[in-house]
Amino acid sequence: MRFVFILIIVGMTSGRYSGQHTELYLDEISLTYAEVIHSYQQLDEAYENASLVEVGPTDNGKNLHLFLIGSKPISETTLQEIAKGKTVIFINNGIHPGESCGIDASIIFAKEILQEKISEDVLVAIIPVYNIGGALNRGSFSRANQNGPKEHGFRGNARNLDLNRDFIKADALNTISFSTVFQALQPHIFIDTHTSNGADYQYTMTLISTQKDKLNPILAETLTKDLEPFLYKQMNKKGWPMTPYVNVFGSTPDKGFAAFLETPRYASGYTALFNTIGFITETHMLKPYKDRVESTLAFLHVMHNYVATNSTKLMELRNRAFDYDQKQKQFAISWVLDSSNYQQRVFEGYEYEYPKSKVSGATRLKYNRDEPKSFDVKYYDTYTEKYIATLPQYYVVPRAWREVVYRLQLNGVVMDPIQGDTSITVNSYYIKEPQFLNFPYEGHFLLRDMNVQKVQQNRNFVAGDYLISTKQRNIRFIVSVLEPNAVDSYLRWNFYDEIFQQKEHFSPYVFEETAEQLLKENENLRATFEKWKKENPDLTKDSYQALKFIYERSAYYEKEHLRYPVARIE
Ligand SMILES: [Zn+2]
Repeated sequence: MRFVFILIIVGMTSGRYSGQHTELYLDEISLTYAEVIHSYQQLDEAYENASLVEVGPTDNGKNLHLFLIGSKPISETTLQEIAKGKTVIFINNGIHPGESCGIDASIIFAKEILQEKISEDVLVAIIPVYNIGGALNRGSFSRANQNGPKEHGFRGNARNLDLNRDFIKADALNTISFSTVFQALQPHIFIDTHTSNGADYQYTMTLISTQKDKLNPILAETLTKDLEPFLYKQMNKKGWPMTPYVNVFGSTPDKGFAAFLETPRYASGYTALFNTIGFITETHMLKPYKDRVESTLAFLHVMHNYVATNSTKLMELRNRAFDYDQKQKQFAISWVLDSSNYQQRVFEGYEYEYPKSKVSGATRLKYNRDEPKSFDVKYYDTYTEKYIATLPQYYVVPRAWREVVYRLQLNGVVMDPIQGDTSITVNSYYIKEPQFLNFPYEGHFLLRDMNVQKVQQNRNFVAGDYLISTKQRNIRFIVSVLEPNAVDSYLRWNFYDEIFQQKEHFSPYVFEETAEQLLKENENLRATFEKWKKENPDLTKDSYQALKFIYERSAYYEKEHLRYPVARIE
């Protein structure tokens, strides 16, 4: 099922853009949500080749906006049509509304590129404010360590979700709307704008590029050999030298740091599953607000220049990446840091010391901002595969798991309903020794550890259950949500928790005779049981445990217990 939606055109094309709001950042003022939308409405009215549209609901009831800039007047009625044949840059702002520099920078960026001639085959798509509920929850204190602006929004959305952990589980309506837009745009480049927490250092702009080792290798090569060097060089030229995101908490950067692994729950981790190269700009929280806005603005221009001059190449690369994926028989689904592999980098930091805290009396970290210092640091930027999944020919997703079916459809997965009730020989996974979080994380008690066993069996499926071919475009996404061990699988995010509870049991006094009979009739069972008794002398003192051992190996025990519902046709 394809998601096609009709755009609601917000502004009318007439009048002029006054732009009176866009200088406010110089006085440490970030625009309110209403001012942001008003600014884009004015741009929409002033330029025929720009359009502000509403694209879907968010949790606080207001619709998400998208601002589009093309080379010609935008007259098509669907996003798919508008984006077709274009190289698309997709910019997301205000996922964390307290980190507002991208919200303010994007309006100026939009105005500036509209004043120039837009490249024929480029489409720029900007979400003005993604977390609208958070942006409206405005105050001056929720960013305790941040140097301005005077007022800003709050990180949690209308239902207190961190939207930058929601891209797979999609609990928020914001996420549902984002995925709909993303699938329609099929962007080549994605940028999510943020402000950092953590260590102190000289750089204003830090950058997370989507982690290269989990990205399609064709895209990873262009990212590391061409695009990243371009971005770092051009930002340096513009007076905003960058460092890779300083992924350091509770220590200091001179000890070295690792590349941030943004798994699919994060924006750029999600976009990587669809061969969209994602970036997260993280301006430094202690730098003046003016500098944070201007460095973000510079980054958007640098990226736009790269895309404008490499649009054909980016389009070809993405097509090649999808072709490459079609030929793969396996995909990595989780990763670990390779601590033996690093680059040596010069890092522009500050001297620091550990004086006594006047608050606690213990030692504390203090950076000396008057003493800039260059450090040689180790930057660990390589991740190796922890789990690799071999693809079946098909996955079978029973229709009963509606929440999963919905999310697969939302993400453009092609699913063929089975025509009639049938029995198929499949491989099923059994999830043994499940370990859940004991405190909720983003509304979920994640399945953090498990033992997965594959079993061949005949299973009944009903008309309307879904066959999912692995020979399709979005295979990286499919394997990343349907393989149990994948770091952000639907199983881990509690979409299949029902399987962990046994539904039927036995009464020992009744089952005693049955167990005796089963042992008599089944030589294998007898041998296994004798072995178990020898190995577990303590457990055999309890007759329930012995009966349970036999019950679980008999036809009476339900096959559904601990069975992951998604089947594999190999
Ligand atoms: Zn953030």
